[in-house]
Amino acid sequence: MGLRTVADLLALQPAGLHVWPAPSRIADAAKKRGQRVTVEGRVVRSVLRRIGGKRSMVRATLVDGTGELDLVFFNQPWMKEQLAEGRELVAHGEVTGDRGASIPNPRLGSDDRPLPAPGTLETLYPSGEGVSADALAGWIEEALERFADEVEEPLPADFLASVGAPDLPHATRRVHAPESAVDFEDARRRFALEPILRLQARVQARRSARGGDAAPARVSEASFAELCACFPFELTPAQQRVAAELRADLARSRPMRRLLQGDVGAGKTAVAAVAAMVAAAAEGQVAMMAPTETLAAQHAYGLRPLLERAGLSAELLTGSLRPAERRAITDALARGEIDVLFGTHALFSDDVEFRRLTLCVVDEQHRFGVAQRGKLAAKGAREPHVLLMTATPIPRSLALSIYGDLDVSVLDGAPPGRGAISTRWARAADRRRMPRFLLERIEAGEQVFWVVPRIGGDGAEGTGGASAEARHADLVGRPAFRAAGVELVHGRMPAEERAMRLDRFRAGEVATLVATTVVEVGVDVPGATVMVIEDAHRLGLAQLHQLRGRVGRGGGDAWCFLLGDRKAEERFRLLERSRDGFELSEEDLRQRGMGDLLGLRQSGQNTEGLIDPERDLDLLLAARDLFATRPELVARYADQDAGAAPGI
Ligand code: ADP
Ligand code: MG
Repeated sequence: MGLRTVADLLALQPAGLHVWPAPSRIADAAKKRGQRVTVEGRVVRSVLRRIGGKRSMVRATLVDGTGELDLVFFNQPWMKEQLAEGRELVAHGEVTGDRGASIPNPRLGSDDRPLPAPGTLETLYPSGEGVSADALAGWIEEALERFADEVEEPLPADFLASVGAPDLPHATRRVHAPESAVDFEDARRRFALEPILRLQARVQARRSARGGDAAPARVSEASFAELCACFPFELTPAQQRVAAELRADLARSRPMRRLLQGDVGAGKTAVAAVAAMVAAAAEGQVAMMAPTETLAAQHAYGLRPLLERAGLSAELLTGSLRPAERRAITDALARGEIDVLFGTHALFSDDVEFRRLTLCVVDEQHRFGVAQRGKLAAKGAREPHVLLMTATPIPRSLALSIYGDLDVSVLDGAPPGRGAISTRWARAADRRRMPRFLLERIEAGEQVFWVVPRIGGDGAEGTGGASAEARHADLVGRPAFRAAGVELVHGRMPAEERAMRLDRFRAGEVATLVATTVVEVGVDVPGATVMVIEDAHRLGLAQLHQLRGRVGRGGGDAWCFLLGDRKAEERFRLLERSRDGFELSEEDLRQRGMGDLLGLRQSGQNTEGLIDPERDLDLLLAARDLFATRPELVARYADQDAGAAPGI
């Protein structure tokens, strides 16, 4: 179970707290499958069976005049003698039962060792292979008796007082032998601090290790204003604020490491474009990376004209270029003739050499691995400035804690002229009316995204549910839809083909685009007003929100129809209620649990239930402040391996 020392044993977190029940009548107990009960009765039968090899099972039947119930003991053949016919006893355990009720491996009370009185609190431990929960409880009890006095608290008392956590010696005793449920929760709070402190310490250690030397990119106030004015729209106050933050970062020789959070459609691209133009105007080169070719192409398509008007050169490098084309680009890049290079992870390839890379922009950064990001950052002679962008926002306070080595900007609000999006979980009646509604929108000159998560209906991906190919065929078979044009895109078609089809949709030549989630990020088609998502229960909240963000970009009203199973009702209702990505992500967090987000699960720590995002957010913040004032604690926590027990 990963327990190597007595300290590990003392730090082991109970799975929960159990209140000892008053005895039940056997007839009642037999109905309480899955619950823990105490029963009293007389043994009327006891049978020993060998079940292969050394394994055995003793089944003793207990009666009390209301009914009967079996007590089952595995690999304890001597129990047959102990549970001789006629013996009176008290037993406690969880009721299970396939044929008749039984309690496997119950705890037995006897006159000299009675079971705890009803109302007594007891901690429940996880059981491991070959280690029963009761054995663990016994060892922990002994460890507490002998070693609890040796537990030391490494954290300052005033800090613990400020977060309302008991010190470690107290917490250790109380978590294993609580006097009340409140006691128990307080103690757990102290233990919840441990993984949080380790995480924070590592983040802080990274932050202070971050030095480096970047090429400062400076432009005059006048040319900055000029760059900001090159868009066909006026930057919103939020965009101007963030652009100014980026300008200030770029002007320093300390490499920028900034995360730009902004909801879908918040207008992050324009802000990134300003940064790119600043860097390029100051004689640097810029790499602008997107997670998909579709999105990279769209960036290039949208920004190249602006860049060229500003006298800058831009190219698009993707995996689908012909070798000669690719060569021409990489050569020009190495000679320093390209100012801004758009692309996907193809920008990581070894043959891609920049002459003077000063800024990397990484769009939808959550799609990239940390290692990938690092690789690009290593491409310049001096360290480049890095701007990460994400539309999967998390609460700012949390972002600061998790990405503590980054600076965080938030682009709030939406550009003006956004219409409303009505979102609806479409049930049977809505489904019948939907085609008609879609055709009305199409007749009004608007366009429709129809997303189906699966590509084809064939074998490998399992049967049941819809597929994009089948839906495409279905719509093509309907004259009214076919007349207005129906196109299909998915991830298994060649990138060029996909880009071409998407272009036709973008240009308004086809009214309906059936797609898989390849259109999830960034695809910007102002004429699209309706998003239909089929089998929506297959997608997460964040993904659904992203997809919905594809419509309503043109200003008028827009609609999103979610078609999916009742099992995702909670998600659908949330989307119906809120369009605010921050609010949704907080909810998502609540549903997924924070351990996931913090990456604690991968680190192998069993923090399930230990950290609660709502309850413990303040702990994250407090941990950051603690390290700011007591830097000597950073090393102590940063160096601890994931499973280390605290304090000893
Ligand atoms: P995201 O933050 O999701 O990447 P985009 O940068 O793709 O958002 O912007 C969404 C849409 O809003 C684009 O069509 C863009 O042209 C438009 N847009 C961005 N900023 C403004 C603005 N200040 N005024 C009007 N439209 C804007
Ligand atoms: Mg974007």
